[in-house]
Parts: sequence; structure tokens; C-alpha cells
Amino acid sequence: MLDAAPSTGDAAGGSGATAGPGLPVATVFLKPKRARPFFGKHPWVLDSAVLRVEGTPADGDVVDLATHDGTFVARGLWNSSSKLRVRLYAFDAATRLDDALWASRIASAVGLRQSLGLDDRAGAARLINSEGDALSGLIVDRYGAWLSVQVTALAMSHRLDAICDTLESLVAPKGILLRGAERGLAKLEGLHLPDRLVRGSAPSGPIFVFEHGLKFGVDLTEGQKTGFYLDQRDNRQAAARFARGRRVLDMFCYSGGFATACSVSGGARSVLAVDSSAKATALAKANADLNGATNVIVETADAFEKLAAVSSAADRFGMVILDPPKFARSRASLDDAMRAYHRINRMAVDALEPGGILVTCSCSGSVSRDDFLVMLSGVAQRSGRTIQLLECRGAAPDHPVSASCLEGEYLKCVIARVG
Ligand code: SAH
Repeated sequence: MLDAAPSTGDAAGGSGATAGPGLPVATVFLKPKRARPFFGKHPWVLDSAVLRVEGTPADGDVVDLATHDGTFVARGLWNSSSKLRVRLYAFDAATRLDDALWASRIASAVGLRQSLGLDDRAGAARLINSEGDALSGLIVDRYGAWLSVQVTALAMSHRLDAICDTLESLVAPKGILLRGAERGLAKLEGLHLPDRLVRGSAPSGPIFVFEHGLKFGVDLTEGQKTGFYLDQRDNRQAAARFARGRRVLDMFCYSGGFATACSVSGGARSVLAVDSSAKATALAKANADLNGATNVIVETADAFEKLAAVSSAADRFGMVILDPPKFARSRASLDDAMRAYHRINRMAVDALEPGGILVTCSCSGSVSRDDFLVMLSGVAQRSGRTIQLLECRGAAPDHPVSASCLEGEYLKCVIARVG
């Protein structure tokens, strides 16, 4: 037992048998010189940082983290099958990782969205953003009266009942749907959570939510990710402010958020919205129609092929939006990803008229803001065009990033004028 830990815990107890609720059943000792990030409140302890474990924690159990010589560092949840061996949730020995703690963290997260004015039941918002809300491994989105919960940590899946109780009492949703984590991520965590309804009833078909006065259909059971890309909410409006009178190309359009905003809010002359998925372009067309955006044309095509065609054609666009899927899955694939970003941005610049607007995004967490801007300066150099940065944006504020876990800062959205 550590000096600083509460006396009811039992470091050698194992599987929660002798510890009180939320108290540690084991102690994880760090290798020498590996404690600094955790004194800085970083929440991820990798297996490579662990020296030894005192006790026999079961996956999901509460453990204390200590330096190699036994000084208390933090308290977290154990997962023997993940490289992310311990996720940390408290940095003092007095805090229990019990249902009361999850409830207070959830209440604080929901309170932030209320203060942002994002509690309108006609709209959609991310209520819980994992590390950004001190709830590593838990993502909750509200679409109208329904909640979509994504669990990316095994330990959170064990606490799902308590989490849903709190969400029901705070938000009173009509239903709570569970969406499995991305397949790769689920495998890394040893998670087996099929998509299912966990509380209440499911919507009988697509539902409709408002975003900045525009109406979008969201299919909670069929859609990509959690149904709709909420992180781009304010970037769609920011892009629309530059669209007036322009011919807009919305590449990687998914359900047409940028296309509809540019047409209706922005007053674009026309919009061509392109995605390689026919399901996505059907959604984009439906959403454009829903908002009376008659000048939006959709096309199912590969973005690289389409960009190659338009960049060599004579007629130019006044605005090109690039919102591709994650090109870099890890640091290892970073070089390939940067080449792909360079290629599509170069083709987009070639497709723009002088004075045209480029709205270019990256949702790859392993591509830093600096990497992305350096890529753009490479495009300016190679194309011989001037690129003036007008806005460097990120995700909407219902996607907060913890300053102690900057890995959560994944979305870049740069609006630039191309001379
Ligand atoms: N801009 C969208 C989100 C885009 S998500 C919004 O605001 O909602 C990325 C999209 O890229 C997905 O819809 C996916 O189907 C599409 N995509 C992936 N690879 C593609 C490719 N090679 N060509 C065209 N679209 C692609």
C-alpha cells in the first residue's frame, strides 16, 4: 500500500475483492524516469513504461500508479490486453474512481455544452469528448432527442450502466444507442461491443437536426462515425462566409454539410459535391433538397481522379473544400500521408481561379498543425501561387481538448486565399 493512498484499499487484493468502490486493488510501478508525463496529468500509461505490478488487477479494475520507488502519481483503470495499460482519471490519492466521480464528470461536460448554447433539443452536439472531458475512452453525441454512445476503453464498457443512468437523469433522451469503436481500436482494447440500443427506443428512421438554421437528416444506425460530423459545425459556416457568388467544389462531401451551408447560408453561385460513397452522395442530395439548395449537384467519384480532371480543365472554381478521411493512421504512415495531403491540395490549388478560396482540412491526429501548414507552404512553392492564410481553425468547442493530452487536437481547417 502506498503511503498517500486511502487506508481502505488493498494493493495485493486483486480483482476489486477487498477494495472499496473506486479504490485501488493494485499498484502499478513505473520504470525510473518515466513518471514525468503523469505528473503533468497525461492520462495514457503505455505498457512500455510499466516496471512491475503489485497485486493482480482484473481488466477494468482501479489501480494506483507509482514511481519506481513508490511515490503516488495518479489513479486509473487497468487493461492487461491494451498497449494503453492504464488510463488515468485522478491525480490525487483522495479521489475514488466510483460512480459518483463519473456522474460529476458527465454533469460538468453536459454543463459546458449548456453554457455554449448547444442544449437545444432540435440540434446536435458532442456531450462528452473523451480525454477533453477527463473521461478517457467515452464519447457521447446527442442528436435531437437521442444519444449515441461510443466506448473506446474496456474499463468504460464495464461502467456503461452507471454512465447511462447519469445520462438519462441529466438529458432525458428518448433512447441511447451504443456504437462500437472503430474495428482496429476495439481490437487493441479487447472490446467486443456490438452496435445496439441500450436504453429507451430507437428512432424509426432518419432523424432531423438543425445546425446554424440548416436542417440535416442523420441516420443514427447507418451513418458513418456517429452519424454526422459535428466537429465541422462552425467550419461549415466559416467556409460559407467566403462562398458568395462563387462556384464551389465540395470534395469528400459525405452528407453535404459544407455544400448545403455554402449554397444556402453563403449564397454560392453553384456547388458540386463529390464523394466516393454512393450512400454519402445520396445523403448530400437529400440534405441539399431539404434546405431548398437547388444549385447543389452531387457526383459519386474518387476525389483524386476528380481533382486530377478538374485541375487540368479550363474552367476554374471560386472555392474548393477538401475534407478527406484520416490519411495518417499512425506516426509511421506520416510521410505517405503528407504526400497525399500535398497532392490533393496541389490539385485543388490548380483548380482554383486567381483569388479563389481554399478550405482545407485534416483530421489526422498524427499530423500536427505545423506539419499541415508546412505542407501548404510546399504547395505554394511548387505551384507558384501565393497562399494567404485567412483562418486557421479547429473543431467546434463541444470537442474540447485537454491541455494535458494534446493528442486530442486532431482537426485542422485552414481557410486560405489563393492568388
Ligand atoms: N465534409 C464532410 C465529412 C467528410 S468525411 C462533412 O462535413 O460532413 C470523409 C469522406 O470522404 C467520407 O464521406 C468518405 O466516403 C469520403 N472518401 C473517402 N475516400 C474518398 C476518395 N478517395 N474519394 C472521394 N471521397 C472519399
